[in-house]
Amino acid sequence: MTKPTTLKTNCPHCKVINEAFSYRHTYTFNDDRRDLDVLWFACNSCQMPISLVIQRLGTHITAVNANRSWTRTTHDGPYRVIAMFPEQPEAGMAPDFTPDNIASFFNQGSRSLESGDFDLAGMGFRKAIDTATKKLIREINPEDLNARLGDTFVKRIEWLHSKGKLTEQIKDWSHIVRLEGNEAAHEEDLYKKEDAAQLQHFTEMFLQYVFTMPRKIQAYRNPSTD
Ligand SMILES: [Zn+2]
Repeated sequence: MTKPTTLKTNCPHCKVINEAFSYRHTYTFNDDRRDLDVLWFACNSCQMPISLVIQRLGTHITAVNANRSWTRTTHDGPYRVIAMFPEQPEAGMAPDFTPDNIASFFNQGSRSLESGDFDLAGMGFRKAIDTATKKLIREINPEDLNARLGDTFVKRIEWLHSKGKLTEQIKDWSHIVRLEGNEAAHEEDLYKKEDAAQLQHFTEMFLQYVFTMPRKIQAYRNPSTD
């Protein structure tokens, strides 16, 4: 019984961290690059494809017949991965222009997600949302901050939406992801991988909307001031 050929990597399409991909198809070069195999895989979460270009170092059987689990960085024995399409974005990095402390919470969440510590990941993303919402509330009216601190994150997000700081879509999305964590009495379950991955996606979009987009628009309109 041989192992199936699989790929483990972060999905550039649906952004799931360290996802398993199933083997679909292979193509072996037959001209002057006979040492290259191209393997196609499909993400087990979203079914979108990734292809790997694998170099055979020597006269070994084709990469697919090696029946192994590949990663983006496989370089051992007779095989070396030399390219992946699409290329991966820097996985789990906070969006551009996110303030340093908030970016650090987000990146800690992403690293925990990658290492399988899903509850820690949830804490990192919630801390990023906590700090970002406080910053936004303070910017609108510092007097409001104390009144809003006792609110759940969803309530703060609704309030920010009512002040024109967030879109309807972000407000509605905040009701679906698991934002409130374990401290609420009725939420004593640990975060599952899916909870943490969804929260990462939500937090990334939230940070892009409130920090990245305004700065990019400002830079575009006033190129000299940025
Ligand atoms: Zn995917």
